[in-house]
Amino acid sequence: MRTPGRGGRLAELVESYGSPLYVYDLSRVRKAYEDLRTALPDPSRIYYSLKANPHPDLVAELRRCGARAEVTSKGELASALEAGCRARELLYSGPGKTPGELDEAIARGVRSYSAESFGDLERIGEAATARGVWADCVLRINAAGAPGSAGLRMTGSASQFGFDLDALLGAPERLKVHGARVVGLHFFPLTNARDEESLRAELVQSIATAAELRSALGIELRLVDLGGGFAAPYAVPGERPGYAGLRDAVSEALDDHLPGWREGAPVVAFESGRHLVGDSGELVCTVTDVKDSRGTSYAVLDSGINHLGGLSGLGRLLPMSARPLETDSPHAASGEEAQDSQRSQDAVASRATLAGPLCTPADVLGRGVELPGLQAGQLISFPNVGAYGLTASLLGFLGHPAPVEVVTDGGEVITATRLALHRQSAGTPAEAPTAAKELQ
Ligand SMILES: *Cc1c(COP(=O)(O)O)cnc(C)c1O
Repeated sequence: MRTPGRGGRLAELVESYGSPLYVYDLSRVRKAYEDLRTALPDPSRIYYSLKANPHPDLVAELRRCGARAEVTSKGELASALEAGCRARELLYSGPGKTPGELDEAIARGVRSYSAESFGDLERIGEAATARGVWADCVLRINAAGAPGSAGLRMTGSASQFGFDLDALLGAPERLKVHGARVVGLHFFPLTNARDEESLRAELVQSIATAAELRSALGIELRLVDLGGGFAAPYAVPGERPGYAGLRDAVSEALDDHLPGWREGAPVVAFESGRHLVGDSGELVCTVTDVKDSRGTSYAVLDSGINHLGGLSGLGRLLPMSARPLETDSPHAASGEEAQDSQRSQDAVASRATLAGPLCTPADVLGRGVELPGLQAGQLISFPNVGAYGLTASLLGFLGHPAPVEVVTDGGEVITATRLALHRQSAGTPAEAPTAAKELQ
């Protein structure tokens, strides 16, 4: 018996679990972690940013690999704990942390925070003090970065993220906060940097800034989180970039500016979301209709910006493309077979606009995507969507069910689950003030 290829295996999963379907493979998550580990200075810590994909199976796999979790909300905190991460090893970050969420994080044992402003630092201190403990804080820095770098710049100009250097240097006394101990610095200047040169320049710049701030502010550096910016392709074919020269260059800069890092003084950390899980995931969906409109071919899919690419509304996404699945199953014939044998009027001529099922013209996953002969009933797959896929989409819009998410390991199914949005009571009017407080 012939073993089915990857396309065939995905089609079998669709037979079992329905379409559309997210499939993540843990062996790819492990490979990405090992590759990143090898590219980074040793010793160093890697935080996995749950923002990219909070699926507990992926988080658990990364924890087993040695990653820690970086969380920014009650939901991500719950996912990390469900995945077996220890609260003491989490880093809680993000702007605008509310007293309610800080209280919950402190109560659940989280003791490391990234502080984004003086006010944030004070609220972290208050939440810790209220429970009789101290929280360790790294200060997120909004510094002018290395010149000529690429990628989306998160810092260096006006930003809701982090401390401006002059604000920090102008009021160092505001860092003395009861309950919140400043133990280090946190940088995250850019994201999705494909080019090693700019990434290296940025990391080296952050290391120099860390050393300068240590002397200028007289703070202790126990943890220097250099962030990341490690790239990954998104919803297009392609490979994660490697960063062959990064380790030596960054280690050298650490030796120059933060001697002691090799003994863990300070601990050096990096963060990554997309690079660790992006290529582990695919979204398989079904073409439900094919039609022409004024010279443009449309393939309508059973999945749209409610399941993938919801961030495209923010102009953040690159164009996407999909491939037909090569399968033996007749109702999911590949493009070529369809062209040869059963080409009907209702087939895509060569390039198609891939539209989703939502009643809005914004529901487009790709334009000019080359999928000749595509017909209703066929399966197609978007590669490299393990990061910023389902939970970065408009899941609630128009009320289609979420796709099942299947987690495999080298092809073997580990779990199959479906996220659901439920409306639940927030209490009667009499109870509402308490409920609102809990949700703070
Ligand atoms: C978004 C974010 C990350 C993860 O970004 P990737 O590009 O997915 O690696 C890490 N750290 C911070 C502070 C972030 O905001």
